[in-house]
Parts: sequence; structure tokens; C-alpha cells
Amino acid sequence: MKDFAAVKRVKRHEFPYVYAKGKRLFHIVATLEDVPGALGSVLELLRKRVNLIGSVSYSLKGGEAIWSSFGESLSPVETEESLSRLIQSSNLTKEFEVHQSKDGLLVDGFHSGIQTETGESLVMLPREGLSHMFDQVVAEFGSGGELLLYNQGTLLGRDGAEVFIRMLGAEVAKSKVADLRPVFSASGWGIPTRLAENPPGTYTLMVEDCFECSSGHEVARTCSFLRGYFEGSGTAILGILIACEETKCRLRGDPHCEFVIGPKK
Ligand SMILES: [Zn+2]
Repeated sequence: MKDFAAVKRVKRHEFPYVYAKGKRLFHIVATLEDVPGALGSVLELLRKRVNLIGSVSYSLKGGEAIWSSFGESLSPVETEESLSRLIQSSNLTKEFEVHQSKDGLLVDGFHSGIQTETGESLVMLPREGLSHMFDQVVAEFGSGGELLLYNQGTLLGRDGAEVFIRMLGAEVAKSKVADLRPVFSASGWGIPTRLAENPPGTYTLMVEDCFECSSGHEVARTCSFLRGYFEGSGTAILGILIACEETKCRLRGDPHCEFVIGPKK
């Protein structure tokens, strides 16, 4: 799989809420016929009326698709009703709702959770808050806390690998380890880059912007959760016992974290 080089990589923007004081914001949700051009026809209608801030669209089962978007109206007199009349004129729109912000605050009251296209439910957490929770575990329990985080990472890594094994089959999943690596960054965990392989079968994985040490607090710990995660997922997907050691960590003053991953001796 090719790396992105021409387009600079960014964090995916999510829209559980936006706040823009003094602006006239709208949340538009529509069920569309899942046919080519349906979304384009709605966007064409709104083109001169709404500046879209962020949108998401996806197919549902049964020939329907969802489009959900936050946008700022370009007119000071735009209302939920006036936008609704406009959207109603599209014959590819089945159902829709328009909700206006109050005092500049717009909240996504539509989505009832998050799931991947393959049906795995996810939870969104503030990464620095999660890292801060890990700080607290080690502050309370010391090396026992590090062991707990390591064990939890191992468990989650194994569970995560089993999703891919179920989806792809064990042999294909094993051959796709490198191709699956960007799932880690797309999920907001950090940016992994595989460095030198030395000795054969053992390699160093650099993780930039690692979530586990992102709290910014000075706590004497390492990224034990991720160390366990790499061991658990590697062991499950490769079918041999994998060992992982963190040789560099931002919590020790290094610019990024590095993990040496290879067969367990
Ligand atoms: Zn680290």
C-alpha cells in the first residue's frame, strides 16, 4: 500500500460539537437514495446558501445513505424552515432534519454512537485525558500499575487482532501486518514508522505523537499499555509469541517513542 506523499497528512476532524460565537450554524441530516449523484444534488442546492464546516456520508443497508453536516449560513436571515424547503426540492432526499445552533453552540444530537464499516463499535475519548488516567494508575500503584496497563494493552491488542483475523482469515491477516499499520494512526493512537530490522524478524517501530504519553505530566512511567498492545496484537496475528520493549519514550525526554518488537526468546 502506498504512503501519502503529495497530500500532507492531518488528523481527521470529528464534529460532536462546534462553538462559534455570533455565527449562524446549522446541523443538516438527510437520508438519501444510495445512488450516484444523490449527495452531489443536495450539495448543489446548498452551494450558495451554506458554507459547510464538516460533513460525513456513508451507506446504510437497504439502498439508503446518510449525509450529516455542520455548516454556517451565508445569509443572516436563513432559518431551519428556509433550508428545509430548499432540501425538500431534491427528489433524491428521503427524510431530513435541519437544526440551528443556539448562542453559537451546535451539538450533534443525531448520531447514537460510532462504528466502523465492518460493524465494530468504537468509543471516542480525549487522548490527553486517557493518558492522564494512565498517569494516575501508575501514581497510585507504581510498578503494579505499569503491569496492569501492560496487561490491559495485551488484552486489547489480542481482541483488536482477532477482528482482522475474523475479517481476513489468519493467513491473509498475517501477510497484511504492514498494510494494517495506518489503522493505528487513523485511530488517533500515534504515527508508527517501521525502522531497521535487526536481527531478522526483530524490528524497531518508531511512534511519533504517541497517545499514551501525551498528557504532558511528568510521571516516572513508560508506555506500558502500548508495549502490551504490540505484544498482544503481534502474538495473535503472527501466531508466535512476540516480545516488545520500549527503548525510547517521550516520558524519558526522547523526541518520540520507539519499540523493539520481535519473537520472544
Ligand atoms: Zn513512550
